[in-house]
Amino acid sequence: MSIDPSKMIAAKVQAMEESATIRMAQKSRDLAAKGVNVISLSLGEPDFDTPEFIKEAAYSALKKGNTKYTPVPGTMDLRNAICDKFKSENKLDFKPSQIVVSNGAKQCIANICLATLNEGDEAIILGPYWVSYVEIVKFAGGNPVVVSAGIEEDFKVNAKQIKQAITLKTKLLIFSSPCNPTGSVFTHDELKAMADVIAENGQILVISDEIYEYINFTGNHVSIGAFDNMKDCTATINGFSKGFSMTGWRLGYMGGPQWLADACNKVQGQVTSGAASFSQEAAAVALRTEKTEALAMRDAFMRRRDLITSLLRDVPGFVVNYPQGAFYVFPDVSYYFGKSNGSITIENADDFAEAMLTEAHVGTVSGAAFGADQCIRISYAASDENITEAVRRIKACLQNFK
Ligand code: PMP
Ligand code: GLU
Repeated sequence: MSIDPSKMIAAKVQAMEESATIRMAQKSRDLAAKGVNVISLSLGEPDFDTPEFIKEAAYSALKKGNTKYTPVPGTMDLRNAICDKFKSENKLDFKPSQIVVSNGAKQCIANICLATLNEGDEAIILGPYWVSYVEIVKFAGGNPVVVSAGIEEDFKVNAKQIKQAITLKTKLLIFSSPCNPTGSVFTHDELKAMADVIAENGQILVISDEIYEYINFTGNHVSIGAFDNMKDCTATINGFSKGFSMTGWRLGYMGGPQWLADACNKVQGQVTSGAASFSQEAAAVALRTEKTEALAMRDAFMRRRDLITSLLRDVPGFVVNYPQGAFYVFPDVSYYFGKSNGSITIENADDFAEAMLTEAHVGTVSGAAFGADQCIRISYAASDENITEAVRRIKACLQNFK
């Protein structure tokens, strides 16, 4: 007799959605493995190599034998470097004991949700949102309450909407700025208004996901946790994946109130322990070195933002936002819903993304996965040639949809 997976697999895992970004990236890879010339603009991953000086620091860590377990919340050296970074760049004051380093920012967010949510607690998620927020909240037993803004509002939810969504069960508010998937950036005043609503309540913890901090084209990154009334109720999340192009090194961190750091430390200590020792040593070097490479990458993304938005504006029917950060553009493609090329009919954003992959051989991600079913997410962390060719293919393919 063999095990019946439907009885064996936990209900909450059966109910969990697979990450759409990872699924679409894999589909693009599968198609490419069959010999199809696919341009994948699906995964949110910088196309640059990790800067050489960071790799050198990791080689030297390995050579000198830094290959053992580290303290669960991270090495003291890295946590000191993170405290200095938070202070000088974000006006955030933390002691090293308030920092928890994890295997990516994704784990930081999971730690916090697991550490705070009881069955039925609510987490307000600002939409469009990054795919994993909703599933992590549900997995931790909480109820996601999505509050959204459309392309007319540059996809930015306002403080009034947040106030209206707060109930006696609200425990968390989660958002990213610069935002994945829209590239929108909240201004100082927008964040201040949001902070005032949260502080007035007094019982809500904000998870401010700032992983795209260095990929900000406005020249002004604001951390909500730096407002006086937010110091005790904000977890600031950051990491090395995006700004330093270190996705494979699996390193993120959170700074927050002591009680939260202690709880995350406890969760992580039972689930994964400390992050990779040599990654941490190299990451401390990354934080302490001039951000020349990070700024050069930001400038490249900014140039590509202008390239891709101008190309997409030429695609009939597309409504294109003008992102201020990250490396995604989030056009409204609903003009094509109900249109067919004779063999395929596009009914929604999922169909649209699927059709672009199978017909135009361009990988994108349906906006539905991010809570916006009129849009698709296109990552422009790609070369100018690939961006230009991808939009050419999309445009040519769509000419057949009537
Ligand atoms: N937050 C956001 C908004 C992201 O886009 C990502 C994607 N990498 C993460 C968190 C997780 O990053 P990592 O786990 O690679 O640090
Ligand atoms: N965060 C990236 C994205 O949105 C990487 C994939 C993932 O971690 O989900 O595409």
